[in-house]
Amino acid sequence: MDNVTYGFLCSVTDTNFDLFEINDYFRNKILEHGLRSNSLSFSLGRTYAENEGYNPSAALGCNIIEDAPSDSSYTHVIHGDNLKRFQTILAEYLEQHHTQMINSIVDGRPTIFGKLASDTPLLLCDIYESTLPYSVVEYARKIVAGEQILESSNCGADMTDVLSMDIDGSIRTCPHAGKDHIVGSLSNIRNARIWAITLERKNEPHCSSCNVKKLCRSSCPIKLPSETFLTNCRVEKVWYTEIQKAAFRMIMNDEVTLVSAGLSDINS
Ligand code: SF4
Repeated sequence: MDNVTYGFLCSVTDTNFDLFEINDYFRNKILEHGLRSNSLSFSLGRTYAENEGYNPSAALGCNIIEDAPSDSSYTHVIHGDNLKRFQTILAEYLEQHHTQMINSIVDGRPTIFGKLASDTPLLLCDIYESTLPYSVVEYARKIVAGEQILESSNCGADMTDVLSMDIDGSIRTCPHAGKDHIVGSLSNIRNARIWAITLERKNEPHCSSCNVKKLCRSSCPIKLPSETFLTNCRVEKVWYTEIQKAAFRMIMNDEVTLVSAGLSDINS
């Protein structure tokens, strides 16, 4: 159908964070089946465990999605030594996207955006070539234009034009939230109120000196226990640090050296 488009969204987790392998898998499927697609999106694995007293060494947590295995939420977030491995892969992945885009320039303009999957070793992706606020291209454009980077939380739960709904028509704070976060119903949509988010999180003391707070906006706006927050913070820091570095690299047209991601400071 001409008016239907599709793309692929992949969760990036502790056992699935090689972005080159993910790219090759989906690109091969697109080419194998002759699909009209050249886009790949990523969903960074985070945890939404609401229980206090989480013990990271036991890797136990309670996902707030009903019926989810009890250890699924924490263990799937990239953590420990894998954070450094992921950072190396992400940096190289974004650098190769930069090279791919520069090589596509014709008469001063990049032609990458209209290319087919068969013409680009790397599929176009949401964190580099898209118009999302946290893509490298859009972030760089906003910095140069002096525009506000994000007007909502980084997940969009507080966006005025976004409503999260489950299959029963219940409106929830976000798709990951459990029954406690049902805030209305599709059948009575005027009375739905999104109440369970803490937008003052952007003033979170922990984040006050963070280099990527304009992109991260203090992560999940649901009030979560501190270890849950910190587990997300560590992976957010890697994710947005590399995106920011790639944006600076594009603006300055030169390689950018990272002095510190601030990961060693995350202990409280
Ligand atoms: S990366 Fe961590 S410290 Fe920085 S804004 Fe996000 S949650 Fe706060």
